[in-house]
Amino acid sequence: MYPRAFHYHRASSLREATEMLSQLGEEAKLLAGGQSLIPLMKLRFANPAHLVDLNFIQGISYIKQENGAIHIGPLTRHAEIQDSAAAAKITILHDCAAGIADVQVRNRGTIGGSLAEADPSGDWATVLMTLTTDVHCFDGKRKRSIPLRDFVKDAYTTALSHDELVSEISIQLPPKGSGGAYIAFKRAAPVYPTASAAVQLTVEGDTCKEASIALGCVGLTPVRPSEAESALRGQRLSEKTIAAAAEAARTACDPQSDMRGSAEYKREVVGALVKRAVEAAVRRARGEQVEVSHLYA
Ligand SMILES: Cc1cc2nc3c(=O)[nH]c(=O)nc-3n(C[C@H](O)[C@H](O)[C@H](O)COP(=O)(O)OP(=O)(O)OC[C@H]3O[C@@H](n4cnc5c(N)ncnc54)[C@H](O)[C@@H]3O)c2cc1C
Repeated sequence: MYPRAFHYHRASSLREATEMLSQLGEEAKLLAGGQSLIPLMKLRFANPAHLVDLNFIQGISYIKQENGAIHIGPLTRHAEIQDSAAAAKITILHDCAAGIADVQVRNRGTIGGSLAEADPSGDWATVLMTLTTDVHCFDGKRKRSIPLRDFVKDAYTTALSHDELVSEISIQLPPKGSGGAYIAFKRAAPVYPTASAAVQLTVEGDTCKEASIALGCVGLTPVRPSEAESALRGQRLSEKTIAAAAEAARTACDPQSDMRGSAEYKREVVGALVKRAVEAAVRRARGEQVEVSHLYA
């Protein structure tokens, strides 16, 4: 199906994009990679009267390390993050970027668009929730930084106001002895996951000093299973503690039954994913090179 007719506007700077949003009103939407918005427009679930294209703005696609953090521009494509040596310093970022859909989607879709969309099945918010992530926002006059946990308000709802945009994402580099892993269970590559688990740990010897876990596609926003984190934090890492964390995560999630599986099935998947992700994260925290990839049905 074709989208409804709309007016196309090309912004030459982020400031101009915010001014256009402000002048054109609620009927205007930003266009980044178009990988969420255009399908919704074709299905006529979204019918914006104006599209403000960010794709011709210079200098808003970048990944750089500065002041102990990785800084990512809003128009940075998933594929650029997948190939970035700077982003690979936080292994979980590579796991996420490399596993999103297929190469076509990864070449167009952007991290800024993904966070702004706040799709409950999107990968980025789940992964970035396990790290210290700030979303930098700009409305043409004021810049503000919002911790990711406060940025994502609900399914498809963020803290952004209508004429405000995501201007950068910054992620603190985890301390020495840290490792992470992100694993999703998918029915096929170009579909959203059935469930996913992101785990970020800091390990000292046999002890887990810090643990951060987020679960994707099993709630309206990424689920933080605090009891699963407590099952690991300060504990000696063993099969028993990892199994306890997996069980706590299984209980904490709140999935809906749908075409991807029943709620109970998704809970089982979450338990298995958390176990695998913790095991990989521990090995990475100890300096091992461990390849992680999504699981396919
Ligand atoms: C077949 C298919 C499979 C997919 N599978 C997955 C998957 O497995 N995992 C996954 O995570 N994603 C998946 N996606 C979605 C993909 O990752 C999108 O790229 C992403 O969700 C949105 O990014 P975008 O740049 O395409 O944004 P767009 O579609 O251009 O925009 C999405 C929304 O964000 C707004 N927006 C865009 N940029 C900004 C900004 N800088 N500031 C404020 N608002 C902004 C737009 O106005 C729009 O409302 C899939 C998409 C397709 C088509």
